[in-house]
Amino acid sequence: SLAVAAAATVAFAPIALAGSSPQERTFIMIKPDGVHRGLVADIIKRFEAKGYKLVGIKVLVPSKDLAGKHYAEHEGKPFYPGLVNFLSSGAVVAMVWEGKEVIKTGRTFIGATNPLASAPGTIRGDYGIDVGRNIIHGSDSVDSAQKEIALWFKPAELAEYELISKKWVYE
Ligand code: ADP
Repeated sequence: SLAVAAAATVAFAPIALAGSSPQERTFIMIKPDGVHRGLVADIIKRFEAKGYKLVGIKVLVPSKDLAGKHYAEHEGKPFYPGLVNFLSSGAVVAMVWEGKEVIKTGRTFIGATNPLASAPGTIRGDYGIDVGRNIIHGSDSVDSAQKEIALWFKPAELAEYELISKKWVYE
């Protein structure tokens, strides 16, 4: 019956999510300072070595409009104009990474907003000093990840595939 089918779907959903797609996705962006300082490969390496899957990547110089939309939640704050100008001042590397709890892990990799308060071993803790030159952005929630991925990528720019290493990363 329909009811049995619905119950079976609910019962199996957590199993399907444990080791296979669709998994959580996050938007990670290396800002112009990270690109100019040659940190692109180092940053990608951390996500890749962890076991996460790269599903989208591109290099672009964001327009002021795009940069402003990305940081819309900070509109009106004193640092907003400088932030938008800075983000649109050079090339960024925009990425979408996929995997279990990748949003939270991405934020852990990145560290605190202020690089001087970021622990050694984090990207900002290892490479940054000033808050306006903190190298990288990462989504901070499921909601912001969905909005940011939709803002920066067209659906066709995100690859659907399965890593053959998946069974060696997930149990
Ligand atoms: P995060 O990037 O860690 O999520 P926020 O969303 O609070 O941090 O801020 C967005 C970006 O705005 C920061 O990454 C930083 O580049 C910049 N920023 C935040 N606070 C300040 C500040 N007080 N002065 C200058 N720039 C700031």
